[in-house]
Amino acid sequence: MGDKPASADEAARQLLLEQVAAEASETAGLTGCAHFSDRVMRALATVPRHRFVHTEQRPWAYADRPLPIGHGQTISQPFIVALMTELLAPDPQATVLEIGAGSGYQTAVLASLARQVYSVERIPELAHSAEQRLRQLQFDNVAIRVGDGWDGWANCAPFDSIMVTAAAEEVPPALLRQLKPGGRLVIPVGHHHCTQDLRVIGKDAQGRIVSRSVLPVVFVPLVHEGE
Ligand code: SAH
Repeated sequence: MGDKPASADEAARQLLLEQVAAEASETAGLTGCAHFSDRVMRALATVPRHRFVHTEQRPWAYADRPLPIGHGQTISQPFIVALMTELLAPDPQATVLEIGAGSGYQTAVLASLARQVYSVERIPELAHSAEQRLRQLQFDNVAIRVGDGWDGWANCAPFDSIMVTAAAEEVPPALLRQLKPGGRLVIPVGHHHCTQDLRVIGKDAQGRIVSRSVLPVVFVPLVHEGE
């Protein structure tokens, strides 16, 4: 139903993988990541992005760019999804928290690499359609909750890694608390009218926080209801 023939999607997906690999090498000076791992590239190759966009957007489903998903939100650019996933480096046993499920695409990429993914989304319609898509695609290791991700997901904490897919003006303190020692948080930090700073934040075994800036990025805002 509205699906392109598999071969057209396959060709577009192959081209996308080549573009993502090329962009990884072009940005290596900033990111420190000239090549993405086979695991991450395989996840990008297997998650069907065309199933996460509206029918009108399907011709661009495998273009390396963000696309509108309704409610003023966007599905992230595949290169950024790959980069953030690479920086998070979830292992097969990891429990991951995502803030901002949106279309559920990044959720699916994480779920194909980690043991369990929890995702918080503030817009109920997006949360429900993401949940439905992920169920249809047989991802049974994902839980999505409607709420304000600023507070994380305390009942299921602590997490091995946390990914925020919306721009926060500051790092939400609850997310740092809900990160395991040795864990990693990937988050765009900055005002949403400007470019933001993609950061990798680590918590060491003693609970000390170390932060590294990786790349200027542009994300929709992390809306904090308490503001
Ligand atoms: N990862 C998504 C990107 C979605 S854009 C994808 O691949 O499609 C960012 C998402 O963050 C939007 O869906 C937006 O509604 C959500 N968001 C913004 N502020 C939030 C908050 N405080 N808590 C939870 N979700 C939030």
